[in-house]
Amino acid sequence: MEPRQFVPTGAAHVWYYRNPGGRVTDDFVRTFLITQLNGCRHVMVVHHTGCGLHAASNARFRERMQPELHIDAGSVDFLPWADIDESVREDVRNLKESPFVTREVAVTGHVYDLQARRLRDVDVT
Ligand SMILES: [Zn+2]
Repeated sequence: MEPRQFVPTGAAHVWYYRNPGGRVTDDFVRTFLITQLNGCRHVMVVHHTGCGLHAASNARFRERMQPELHIDAGSVDFLPWADIDESVREDVRNLKESPFVTREVAVTGHVYDLQARRLRDVDVT
């Protein structure tokens, strides 16, 4: 999915990137390299409750690809997750350990609860 960039009223430069499961992928890191050049120094990893990637499986997605799309997706990892807080921590850890993210960048983790319509922090220490 294409990243979206907008400048809201005020001084903040907000860059919004969304993909299935909210996962940190190679494409995210590649794109974030450019964003860092534009001055971005904070990443908020946000996963949400009720996500289609929660409790999903690569096998199940692959089973559907062939009959429904006629695509062999046998090599694709859809990055499903079982525990929402752990998936956030994993993505935060991947960003903090990435050689393509400067140490100046703050990386925080959050879960958006769709029913409560609230964002909560995830302890990523
Ligand atoms: Zn989702």
